[in-house]
Amino acid sequence: MLLNLCGHDFHYECENLCRVFYPNDSVRIVYDADDPAALTSRMETVEGGFRLSASWDGARETLFVPSDAPRLAEAQELAAAKTIFLLLQKRTGYTPPWGMLTGVRPSKLMITLMREMGALQAQDYFTDTLLVQPDKTALAAAVARQEDRILRASRPESYSLYLSVPFCPSRCSYCSFVSHSVNSPSARKLIEPYVKLLLREIAMTGEIARELGLRLESVYIGGGTPTTLSAAQLSAVCNAIAAHFPLRDAREFTVEAGRPDTITRDKLDALHAAGVSRISINPQTLNDDVLVHIGRRHSAQDAIDCFRMARDAGFDNINMDLIAGLDTDTPDSFRRTLGGILALAPENITVHTLALKRSSRMVQEENALSEGGAAVAEMLADAQSRCTENGYMPYYMYRQSRCIGNFENVGWCRAGKECLYNVYMMEEVHTVLACGAGAVTKLREPHGPMIERVFNFKYPYEYISRFDELAARKARIKTFYEEYTY
Ligand code: SF4
Repeated sequence: MLLNLCGHDFHYECENLCRVFYPNDSVRIVYDADDPAALTSRMETVEGGFRLSASWDGARETLFVPSDAPRLAEAQELAAAKTIFLLLQKRTGYTPPWGMLTGVRPSKLMITLMREMGALQAQDYFTDTLLVQPDKTALAAAVARQEDRILRASRPESYSLYLSVPFCPSRCSYCSFVSHSVNSPSARKLIEPYVKLLLREIAMTGEIARELGLRLESVYIGGGTPTTLSAAQLSAVCNAIAAHFPLRDAREFTVEAGRPDTITRDKLDALHAAGVSRISINPQTLNDDVLVHIGRRHSAQDAIDCFRMARDAGFDNINMDLIAGLDTDTPDSFRRTLGGILALAPENITVHTLALKRSSRMVQEENALSEGGAAVAEMLADAQSRCTENGYMPYYMYRQSRCIGNFENVGWCRAGKECLYNVYMMEEVHTVLACGAGAVTKLREPHGPMIERVFNFKYPYEYISRFDELAARKARIKTFYEEYTY
């Protein structure tokens, strides 16, 4: 797709909007070209202001911005984006649920606008100016209220700890994470040396946090599937955290148990004994046919049994992840999945929208994103109304690129059972010290917006063979805090 910008350079918003409507096309930008095949976005000076227009194949949309408009450049950019939006909406017959909102988290923007102009005006701005659908505006406002409350508890010296266990028993068909499938003996051999080095990295990181006098808020072990490790390995990792971090001060310790085919009673007991306060069991669907289709080696009943086993082991804060839009799933079967999950009454339910890999069959099919979107819209609306009816509230939300229908992922929770780490990490409100392959430490300036990332090696074999290099990078944590003292 050719996007021709004339008289302005608002390329970021204009290009993003083209991708919303044509996710399968690559967008090439040209300037002031005379090409009838291009979508042309033009800004011209006219009497009293500026005319913004978008034209393509004989269709045209036009808006006027007066020259005394407040925040003139912003108003011009919005008008340029809006003309493209209206043109493509008519051409495709597709109305994106989040309107012109691209590249920014809806709840983050909503929090900022609510603080600037108040709750009602912020919601009006979403629907009237950004053309966000009213139900999505209401969702963003509800999430913003919860997030804002959680974020206010973070202090300049706060930090969270993230540990990565990038192993899984097999690969799910939709997976886009860096995770190592351990279904071969050679892959399984990586786990033991990996865990040994992870223990060293935990000790080093804990020492740095202690020297800096930072305050631990939350701990999260994710992956991959951390419960790919044995009970003894999980105990070793948790004990190392307890030995090197003030775990008793942390407000939350989550382990993403993840796949039911890795969860056993001895692992759950090991985690509970180590002080883990929240776990996640992620069936994604309770439809056995869909589970086979996505490459899972467990049944819906296995997920239910794991949940009950976790309750027996003493866990009173359990999350369950679902995905709307899995291949071969339908609104009816998603409804049955939701019913099964709600009957278990977990404290958290996270409802994701499937994000498609570029190469997947659905992405290749013409209009798949918007057509699949109708079914996903039904699933998400169902999830929203039934979670609400059952006493859950939305507390965090994010959007991914290449989500079917351009929808969102939402964390629902019972009051007081939100996952704090999810909110802190998403909002980048304080430092996250990270250990393990693929983990990224995010250093946040205590009294300012500066964020700096320190990357670990992505793959377990690199993590093992180049650990000393990685360990040397940790020095940056101290120098960062010396530069940006609090
Ligand atoms: S469990 Fe998660 S990380 Fe592992 S393969 Fe499946 S989607 Fe990827």
